[in-house]
Amino acid sequence: MFDFVVIGGGIAGASAAYELADGASVLLVEREEHCGYHTTGRSAALFSETYGNAAIRSLTRASRRLYEAPPAGFSEHPLLTPRHVLFIARADQAASIAHLSEIFMQAGGKPPRVLSADAVRERVPIMRTDYVAQALLDETSMDIDVHALHQGYLRGARARGASIAVSAEVLNIDKGPSGWRVTTAREQFQARTIVNASGAWADSIAAMAGVAAAGLTPLRRTAMMLDLPDGIDASSWPHVIDVDEEFYFKPDAGRLLASPADETPSEPCDAQADEFDIAVAIDRIQQAADLPVRSIPRRWAGLRTFAADRSPVVGFDPRVEGFFWLAGQGGYGIQTAPALAKVVAALANRRPIADEILEAGFNPDAVSPARSGLGAAVHAEA
Ligand SMILES: Cc1cc2nc3c(=O)[nH]c(=O)nc-3n(C[C@H](O)[C@H](O)[C@H](O)COP(=O)(O)OP(=O)(O)OC[C@H]3O[C@@H](n4cnc5c(N)ncnc54)[C@H](O)[C@@H]3O)c2cc1C
Repeated sequence: MFDFVVIGGGIAGASAAYELADGASVLLVEREEHCGYHTTGRSAALFSETYGNAAIRSLTRASRRLYEAPPAGFSEHPLLTPRHVLFIARADQAASIAHLSEIFMQAGGKPPRVLSADAVRERVPIMRTDYVAQALLDETSMDIDVHALHQGYLRGARARGASIAVSAEVLNIDKGPSGWRVTTAREQFQARTIVNASGAWADSIAAMAGVAAAGLTPLRRTAMMLDLPDGIDASSWPHVIDVDEEFYFKPDAGRLLASPADETPSEPCDAQADEFDIAVAIDRIQQAADLPVRSIPRRWAGLRTFAADRSPVVGFDPRVEGFFWLAGQGGYGIQTAPALAKVVAALANRRPIADEILEAGFNPDAVSPARSGLGAAVHAEA
């Protein structure tokens, strides 16, 4: 009998297992051989306090301190390294740049720097000056070492006594008088509380447990590596994002990681890159930049899973006792994980949420599984 059985070994499950194992017995079960096989291993590793809606932004702000000062021994490498974000806009995207400036103002942190088209080219020499009408440089954003973060949580959870079972697909969940019985292909486990951290499969796991769906929609996003023209070193370039997120690219290990920022509804699955989305990315990037594409050394896709209002779904299910949701982190599950895992430990143990998280503007009602509107269709990005 475990206090918590966490289903899913991505960043959500790993970080939750780590925080919950501080004082409780925890088992993490992961279907795949490796815990980061699905969305967690496929991200663009961006940390940006202006990305996502208000709930996401508050969790990202609250996570920053935890990223910058992890517990002793958590990781050998810094979890964040500076990577400015350059938001670019064509002349027809003036309203979007104005909206983004407002978000920066509301955040109250360091304001972005306004760059001329020439200053953009100084930083990213392949950009076309006739394409960029306005640009904002966010000097507070970061690259995340996702592997170090994920492994730090898994290692730390084990050190706190948690058990981790891989190649352990949950096939059945039923409830007896003393708690939940979770059945995998080889074993059965008992749990007082189930934590549903199964990413794109979260509504399927809920159905297995007889819990009503939260109406989560997995949206496929494609990414690829592109070779740089000979002799160009992009390591100091910012992460370039079209202000309406029609595409982005950033330096990554001597190449450019690029995406058309697509959002195609999908069934939960092992997502694969689609040729059409690859072509869209290249077309959009080549309108903005001089980047000949001779080959695509790597391509992949992952599922970003959203609730209708694009806020995560975190907390006890309002109708079924002992079923805890940790889902719907969408495109922000890495940058928000440190604060969200602490929120999970507080709510699951019915303890108050830490002041530093509330002071960052986090409102637990915004992520509650009992909030209205769950189950509706996912909206376009606000
Ligand atoms: C292209 C792309 C770019 C992104 N960029 C960023 C970014 O820059 N910054 C950021 O913060 N986020 C980004 N994200 C989003 C981020 O990757 C996700 O929010 C995060 O990884 C979600 O983590 P998770 O643990 O919920 O899901 P997952 O990593 O998918 O983990 C869920 C796990 O549950 C397991 N599971 C499911 N069903 C079962 C079962 N029946 N039994 C046992 N195990 C099961 C799965 O095998 C899986 O390993 C990006 C995503 C994509 C695709």
